[in-house]
Amino acid sequence: MIEIVCIVVVAIVLYAVFNQNGFPVFLFHKIDDQSDTNELEFEAILKHLQEKQFKTVTAREIENGVKIDKKCIMLTFDDGYLNNYQKVFPLIKKYQTKITLFINSDYILENEEVRAADTMHSHYPFLLWSEIQEMQESGLVDIQLHTGKHYFHFVSSEIKEVFTHEENLQDLKNYQELYGREEALEGLPIFRKRGATSQPGFILDLNKLDALKTRISKYSELKLANKALDFLEYGRIETIKEFKKRIVQTVSDNQLAINHYLGYNAKNFAWPWGHFTKNSVEVMGSIGIKGLYTCIKGPNRRKVDLRCIRRDSFRQASLKRFKWKLYLCRNTILGKIYEWVS
Ligand SMILES: [Zn+2]
Repeated sequence: MIEIVCIVVVAIVLYAVFNQNGFPVFLFHKIDDQSDTNELEFEAILKHLQEKQFKTVTAREIENGVKIDKKCIMLTFDDGYLNNYQKVFPLIKKYQTKITLFINSDYILENEEVRAADTMHSHYPFLLWSEIQEMQESGLVDIQLHTGKHYFHFVSSEIKEVFTHEENLQDLKNYQELYGREEALEGLPIFRKRGATSQPGFILDLNKLDALKTRISKYSELKLANKALDFLEYGRIETIKEFKKRIVQTVSDNQLAINHYLGYNAKNFAWPWGHFTKNSVEVMGSIGIKGLYTCIKGPNRRKVDLRCIRRDSFRQASLKRFKWKLYLCRNTILGKIYEWVS
């Protein structure tokens, strides 16, 4: 009997110590029926946060050492969609909620005419710089880094599939850059890929592309015969020095665009697709990036580890689901268990 009492007492003490000790950071992209949550539920979430007197903080405020107390939370939006201006901005003004946008600056446009002509993103149009400026001037929106183009690259010679226009049209520009050509992509191999800022890439030898294609045409037979496939001879792995140079260029282009239009040096970066490695974290640190935002679920401590800020995301979330995640991410012990099992 005494053991049970001890266990219950320890559990209550642990709960009390760790409850409301975490700092929840959430990741959204768009607010609509197909995305993270819809407009109605998002408004309900903001209303709930206001009623319960939560304080929303931004990446820039954290970078500048704002004190994170038990009522602080952070809402982030990645990529930079027009949806953020049309649907999110009116609501955050209504509830005076602060958000952070991590933008792909190469996709942000100058004016409506250019946006109308941006056929590559016609299903999910991006923001204009003037809309971003208006949001920034409200004092509610912090703009930060997410690379210029949200590109992936190949990271090993392990083949995954073969390029077809039908399947890969959405990422056509990305593949054109990787293959160094605009035509005759059909049948080229797609190797294992990760976000382009995550680790050194597998760079194809463009002179060997046609030879590679011929070999790939036999790919299905080889696969059927279960033979070990090695395509390393058709390219090489990028050196750490080249990798670092590339990241420096990517981040600096992203920073220059933000600085040009908004007038400050952004120092917080969200990894595209959440992909990163020890190498990329080190490179980011060495070039002065202060906060690195991941897609790892779970709680952050209130003394935030800026090298690895956890962000929980949603899929058609309701207020009920949001509350549940909020509860878990504020309790560092329950949140940790949630992180392990999810
Ligand atoms: Zn993204």
